[in-house]
Amino acid sequence: MTGKVTLVGAGPGDPGLLTLRGLEALQSAEVVVYDRLVGEEILNLIPASAQRVDVGKHPGHHPVPQWSINEILLKEAQKGRNVVRLKGGDPYLFGRGAEELELLQKHGVPFEVVSGVTSALAAPAAAGIPVTHRDWASSVHIVTGHARSGKALDLNFSALTAAGGTCVFLMGMAALEGICTGLLAAGMDPDTPAAVVERGTLPGQRKVVSTLARLAAEVRSAGLSNPAVIVVGPVAALSEALDWRSARPLTGQRVIVTRSAGRGEALCRSLRALGAEVLNCPTVSTVSTVDSEKLTKILNLSKQIQWIAFTSAAGVEAVFSALWEAGLDARSLGAVRFAAIGPATARALEAQRLRADFVPALYDSEHLARGLAERLEGGTVLLLRSAIATPTLSRVLTEAGASWLEVPVYDARLPEEPDPALTAWLERGESLVTFSSGSTVRGFVRALEPGADLSRVRGVSIGAQTAAVCAQNGIPTLVAAEATERGLIDLILNQFGERRAEP
Ligand code: SAH
Repeated sequence: MTGKVTLVGAGPGDPGLLTLRGLEALQSAEVVVYDRLVGEEILNLIPASAQRVDVGKHPGHHPVPQWSINEILLKEAQKGRNVVRLKGGDPYLFGRGAEELELLQKHGVPFEVVSGVTSALAAPAAAGIPVTHRDWASSVHIVTGHARSGKALDLNFSALTAAGGTCVFLMGMAALEGICTGLLAAGMDPDTPAAVVERGTLPGQRKVVSTLARLAAEVRSAGLSNPAVIVVGPVAALSEALDWRSARPLTGQRVIVTRSAGRGEALCRSLRALGAEVLNCPTVSTVSTVDSEKLTKILNLSKQIQWIAFTSAAGVEAVFSALWEAGLDARSLGAVRFAAIGPATARALEAQRLRADFVPALYDSEHLARGLAERLEGGTVLLLRSAIATPTLSRVLTEAGASWLEVPVYDARLPEEPDPALTAWLERGESLVTFSSGSTVRGFVRALEPGADLSRVRGVSIGAQTAAVCAQNGIPTLVAAEATERGLIDLILNQFGERRAEP
């Protein structure tokens, strides 16, 4: 049976601008054939089970020629597979989308087209430029600034000038000077507002707003490059007033999030929404080591166990998944009470439909230990946590005269070698680094190139113990007032957030 090809527009880069239908198509894809312009975060939405084919084109040299892309699509669909052809922006706007469908159409392969948000409209918008405006522009002309190979740029500058609307040039960076002089020669006012928006909607978006006469020189001296759109017309002057992105408190800040694998997404999302450029860099991965038989045996043998203490969501998930896989559930733990070190751990218990009977007022090992010691009535507390957990919890329990037993339930694995993405990120400049546990700090140090310049990083630690591990490793750090992700975000906002004047 023949498969199907869905031509999907990925939008300008921000994953929030992928359409619902586009996401649906991606999630059910068996093969995804994608371009250079599709953002990293969108590629992360491709299911692990799908095969990825990168046919990225670089200006000047085309690693995969167009005819070959067309054939890949045809062959994959003829194998009966569900193929998604993912392209930047909208697939029909300077995307050769139609050319890719012709061969499929000739062979009777079914296809569907999912429109995307084009960078021609979204990149200006993300820089505060509405392409039309009742007072300033009643038409918009989207023009390619790319000449067919070997040919000179051939644009009808007189018609564009006479039309009087907004001109948006895509693929125009190499020809920027030619575009500006062409419009000037056709009689456009040299003082016409004009702008270039680089990496529109993406982290690290930049813009230059100027006039037609000065744009090219200012863009070259600012060093803007592809991908970028050129906008010419009175609407470009609105860019200052309507630039909501630059007005966000963390715009310009770079932050590395080092939570354990799969747990950093929410923090990354919150920081990005505040305007920060964020690298999600998991520096620990947790591997469950729960032996459910041994665990239930301990609980059955020592009727003395009154409390079970969890110090992370990872611990909670490791224990309950192992019980479930062994055909058991929470009932096999008996009538114990549960303590959670903080709200995130308590939420992990709630996900199992269990309430935390105790969460300390301050979310750290010391307060957890003291609270447990007060609540134990002659029994024992069972600590279910990582094999390399800090000794504070057990030490304070012992000091308080409380009886405890420890069973490690997961291993925190640290990186084996330096992470090239991290190295590249640090080479680009200074960065904040969030740490949510001592092991994320240790993992971060392992992920660094030996001899990496630590003066470029500033730690933001969730609590005093994590900060102590930073200090041991020579990483200067600040400490959150509350040991939660919210606490980390508030600290970053307070220390590094731009306090912009109220309008
Ligand atoms: N089909 C795409 C355009 C493909 S042509 C769309 O609808 O957006 C490639 C050009 O798109 C680039 O040279 C650049 O001019 C523009 N472009 C794509 N993504 C962009 C982005 N995030 N910011 C600015 N320009 C972008």
